Amino acid sequence: MSYRRVGSSGLLLPEISLGLWHNFGSLGDFENARDMLRTAFDNGITHFDLANNYGPEPGSAEINFGKIFHEDFENYRDELIISTKAGHLMWPGPYGDWGSRKSILASLDQSLERMNLNYVDIFYSHRPDPSTPIEETMGALKTALDSGKALYVGITKYNANQTKMALSVADKLGFRLLIHQTRYSIFNRGVEAELLDELENEKIGAIAFQPLSQGMLTDKYLNGIPEDSRIRKPGSSLKEEDMTEERLVQIRQLNDIARSRGQSLAQMAISWVLKKRPESRSTPISSALIGASSSKQILENLQALDKLEFSADELFLIDQISLK
Ligand code: NDP
Repeated sequence: MSYRRVGSSGLLLPEISLGLWHNFGSLGDFENARDMLRTAFDNGITHFDLANNYGPEPGSAEINFGKIFHEDFENYRDELIISTKAGHLMWPGPYGDWGSRKSILASLDQSLERMNLNYVDIFYSHRPDPSTPIEETMGALKTALDSGKALYVGITKYNANQTKMALSVADKLGFRLLIHQTRYSIFNRGVEAELLDELENEKIGAIAFQPLSQGMLTDKYLNGIPEDSRIRKPGSSLKEEDMTEERLVQIRQLNDIARSRGQSLAQMAISWVLKKRPESRSTPISSALIGASSSKQILENLQALDKLEFSADELFLIDQISLK
């Protein structure tokens, strides 16, 4: 595993991190979850990403992670970066959602209790809240830092303007945002227009979530929809309707490019988010934040790191296919 510096901070993250949004909750298989965490860590994936509402059911990924952590990983706490988030609906009533100080700090306490941890390494505001002053949400993140319950703080899903505001408010309050967690993949290019430049200029690190577009950027759906796929699981936000004929054509063409590079499509999709951006010859992306349903997938995905370089022709072709 190689580790990349997060912006201009002191923190290094593994080039691939593991997210626990799916397959680690009460509806998943506990032993499979344990096996995936062990496989990941044994291969240098030192960063596990959670949120208050991960499961399904909400909260259960943190509970299961806490159990596995205390059974298997307790001696390795100082080798791990554990993150969690607050900002999506978590409990009933007016305080279980969005970005008020009340909600954010109560949620952090609940997450620590579920995982039975004293602190998390990174605590995120999970989404911008249009109804709460940004000063209040950032103030809550500062309190999380000052209390020692979080070592670093970050934001996720803030657009370029909202990020600018958040950085400026954090600056006034006397702290620094470590990282932006952003959706980025061959199929999700929204951040390329402004956000990646903003992060690079501000020397803030980024971690790219859903580099596999929930599994579409793999060979999983090439021959139909398998029964063990996310699409077939209850409550999935990836739907059968997402797999249109046009999408399938793109996936097949991308799969051909991956094969010509000697990679699987999943590996190429991960390499792609970690590549240097042609416009700056660098990247703010410190890590590709993948999900998985088996250790086998994790092991396959790790091999992406053997080939991170792309030729100009390959990048051009990938754009031609995916930006259609
Ligand atoms: P991915 O795009 O990495 O999709 C993961 C899914 O792809 C797996 O569950 C699996 O699906 C499939 N897959 C993975 N590897 C392979 C492979 N080698 N071959 C075939 N299929 C494969 O991301 P996720 O949607 O899981 O999100 C990753 C993480 O990002 C989350 O766990 C979370 O930590 C973070 N996240 C953050 C958000 C935010 O708001 N900040 C929002 C969403 C995610 P299958 O189950 O079908 O096998």
